[in-house]
Amino acid sequence: MLEIRNLHARIAEDGTEIIKGLDLTVKAGEVAAIMGPNGSGKSTLSYILAGRDDYEVTEGEILYNGESILEMDPAERAAAGIFLAFQYPMEIPGVATMQFLKVAMNEQRKARGEAELTTPDFIRLVKEAAGSLDISMDMLKRPLNVGFSGGEKKRAEILQMKLLAPKLCVLDETDSGLDIDALKIVADGVNSLRAPDRATIVITHYQRLLDYIEPDTVHVLSKGRIIKTGDKSLALELEAKGYADIINEAA
Ligand code: ADP
Ligand code: MG
Ligand code: MG
Repeated sequence: MLEIRNLHARIAEDGTEIIKGLDLTVKAGEVAAIMGPNGSGKSTLSYILAGRDDYEVTEGEILYNGESILEMDPAERAAAGIFLAFQYPMEIPGVATMQFLKVAMNEQRKARGEAELTTPDFIRLVKEAAGSLDISMDMLKRPLNVGFSGGEKKRAEILQMKLLAPKLCVLDETDSGLDIDALKIVADGVNSLRAPDRATIVITHYQRLLDYIEPDTVHVLSKGRIIKTGDKSLALELEAKGYADIINEAA
């Protein structure tokens, strides 16, 4: 489903190379974890997959279902079924979460040549998905992510994922700010979206999240490259030995 070959990418503004020959293959049905120390390029990789224009790909290829996505803008990638959840979700003041979801769903439908959702259909779908995530109507009326707690932001993120039903989900989780409840929300969401025709990439600094999501593959990112790939036992090995040992061994 996703094949990244010899990817090199730099910051557009100052030309600093961050991704330095990264190879990664993720198959349909798979949950892949990407782990790496701070500053290794995890978030940069997710921004590049999203198509953010402050990064430039200088070499290599990103193939999604066999076709390059490098020339696709972020909206085209989303319409093709690629969904990214960021470490710091965007706050959208003045737009109720409900309204945001409706626009996002209808944009996706439009891009696919499908008719807009009727309001009753939309409400029914949102209520179903929100109920399973313990999201109240009150929260849906508030502006997206504005003043949301860490756990509420995660719930809103998983709600978007459920409603948009993407084929390739990329979650840049990490490091700070996620308490155990929020981790469980993300993990339950990812687990409930497991499907033979869907792949998920979970980017994380800590092994903790992987106690709740059992990844099929684990990839270690260091200095802009995947330096080691294994199964879920690699995450445990990382937890036991630390990044420095694994990175030295790989070198
Ligand atoms: P991670 O998510 O693994 O912690 P990042 O992808 O956030 O790592 O960052 C990788 C490296 O690239 C870091 O050294 C970071 O400072 C640098 N970097 C990323 N984006 C930018 C940017 N827009 N401007 C300057 N430096 C950046
Ligand atoms: Mg970081
Ligand atoms: Mg990061």
